[in-house]
Amino acid sequence: MELNETVSVLKGVGPKKQAALEKLGIRTIGDFVNFFPRDYEDRRRARSIGELEEDKPALIQANVELVVKDPYRKGRKQILRVLVSDGTGNLELIFFQASYLANTFQIGKRYDFFGKPAANFGKLQMIHPDYAASEKGLIQGIVPVYPLTSGISQKEMRAWQRAALRGIPKIEEYLPEEIVERNRLCGCDYAVLNVHFPTDKQPLLAAKYRLVFDELMALQLGLLAARQKTIDGKKGLVFHSGNAEIYIHSLGYQLTSAQQKVAAEITEDLKSGRVMNRLVQGDVGSGKTVIAEIALYQAVKSGFQGVFMAPTELLAKQHFEGLRKSFQPHEVKVGLLTGSMTAKEKRQVLERLAVGEIQILVGTHAIIQPDVTFENLGLVITDEQHRFGVKQRTALSEKGSDPHVLVMTATPIPRTLAVILYGDLDVSIIDELPPGRQKIITKAIDESRRHTCYDFVEKELSEGRQAYVVAPLIDESEVLDVKSAEELYQELRDRMKEHEVALLHGSMKQKEKDDIMARFYENEIQVLVSTVVIEVGINVPNATVMVIENAERFGLAQLHQLRGRVGRGKHQSYCVLVSKKSSEMAAERAEIMVSSQDGFYIAEQDLKLRGPGEIFGTRQHGVPDLVIADLARHTKILNDVKKEAERIIADDPGLKNPAHQGMKQRVLKLFGDDFSWTL
Ligand code: ADP
Ligand code: MG
Repeated sequence: MELNETVSVLKGVGPKKQAALEKLGIRTIGDFVNFFPRDYEDRRRARSIGELEEDKPALIQANVELVVKDPYRKGRKQILRVLVSDGTGNLELIFFQASYLANTFQIGKRYDFFGKPAANFGKLQMIHPDYAASEKGLIQGIVPVYPLTSGISQKEMRAWQRAALRGIPKIEEYLPEEIVERNRLCGCDYAVLNVHFPTDKQPLLAAKYRLVFDELMALQLGLLAARQKTIDGKKGLVFHSGNAEIYIHSLGYQLTSAQQKVAAEITEDLKSGRVMNRLVQGDVGSGKTVIAEIALYQAVKSGFQGVFMAPTELLAKQHFEGLRKSFQPHEVKVGLLTGSMTAKEKRQVLERLAVGEIQILVGTHAIIQPDVTFENLGLVITDEQHRFGVKQRTALSEKGSDPHVLVMTATPIPRTLAVILYGDLDVSIIDELPPGRQKIITKAIDESRRHTCYDFVEKELSEGRQAYVVAPLIDESEVLDVKSAEELYQELRDRMKEHEVALLHGSMKQKEKDDIMARFYENEIQVLVSTVVIEVGINVPNATVMVIENAERFGLAQLHQLRGRVGRGKHQSYCVLVSKKSSEMAAERAEIMVSSQDGFYIAEQDLKLRGPGEIFGTRQHGVPDLVIADLARHTKILNDVKKEAERIIADDPGLKNPAHQGMKQRVLKLFGDDFSWTL
């Protein structure tokens, strides 16, 4: 059996099972042995019935005393009750296929059972335990529990996994020996065997450690290689730093000290002779735009063009208006390029851009198009970077000769992680809001009090304010989300007859969305019901209420972003989180949102509650999803890995050394196509 063969070579895997396995992301034998258990059952020692505890899965050995078919139900759903005892007590076992199992158990005979005891009317029961006659015995030892999908049983997974592990050749060590020794790693073959069928706790821990190490190694090598590539051999354009001061003095306000610090870091980069690659993280409203302006001003006054790219049409337009106003007194020419412009409008912009008549171009993805050429591009800024992958960032940079790159995001990432995740970027943080920002009063309520929430919204509206209402997320399905948004929209429209209520959702045409946003901005619409499309950067200072329905379905970081849409003007603002049911988790999350407005703190808490997998999705940050490593929990391993990875990349930046091919393959596998340009 070879790692690259399809799983159909396994006995018992026909076309149906193959399709089901594919749903789990398993196509080849290699995928299969790298599909790890989500948990383990300890079946090494049988417990006595007297020792059993509720909800603690256990193996017992007991005699069957009584087998009873439930007289009240017939057919396939008939229940079978089996009473067993082992001298320390009795236990009732429940099976749901009475007719099929009725003759399986013989009175007086001894069987092994493994299951989770549940209390029912004060008595312990096991529902559908695994079973086997004691002379055969259930598998003893530590037994893996795999994530499943419909059409595949735990039993099948275990059997196939055993067969696959037995069938494959030994997995060769791919790490240099000194790394294995320095970090006291077990062999990679041993690790794969023991993560599936560990002989004891110790081997399981060693196996997991090794697999986490491997995955983080691939991650670090990939990120460091990307960084190397962006730094290597590139001479940075040198900007005149004195211009920064001129621009800062022309502002009508004082920069916060966090802004000053970040502006200084950027200015330092811009005159250093090295290419800048910097990430600016700052909470919603922390004033990132002016930081971008300071950098753009320096570019223009040093004779270069600059680009400012935003993730949505709307945001691009807002930035364009803002920048045009800010730069007018300085006689800097700003242009706009978006996908929805007419061919004629575009052509004009492109012509002016190519000859340097437009000095700063603001726009959407449209800027990446091949027909967009600059006279002399010196600085590329992307706003809300999590919407762009590494690739797009690079495509933009290639429009100049090694321009400086600044990336701005409001998605706060805990400091410890940012440095590691953005291995290819330096990181600056604006951790302070401009003075005089009011606190947004946040309330968490459950659904039964929805009406009071909308009473409050109406009160705000009657005072001339506006409101956002974020419609519930149903699940992954866009169609259902739209439906729920529509229902909510109709409910509110019927209820708030004196006010204009509008609906905005992701599957609308861009033009429609823009129209609605423009009317909301002009206060022609007072209540905007929307799906999460408003998440990114829009600015309507007169909006004072943010209602989020189904708040339990959103991540904390996302709730925080949504909340940041209000509190942008002089009026007191409010955020109401409406949740379905009050689980402990929901209460904890609500408490965090109510008590804090600090995006970094909220991100840390989010990380603790949900784990990084949820937060650092591939698309979000251009960082791949990890299978076994957990960036929140494995920080120590991550640090060890980082040191090793740095040594390797310093020595062999493109992983060209024959001894490094195994590592290179793992990097490419982890990052997929996104990194093929790097290595
Ligand atoms: P974000 O970081 O979310 O992009 P913005 O750049 O849109 O934030 O800034 C939010 C608002 O704060 C803008 O109206 C901006 O003019 C204002 N602002 C930025 N910096 C300061 C400051 N130092 N003092 C006062 N207001 C500021
Ligand atoms: Mg912004």
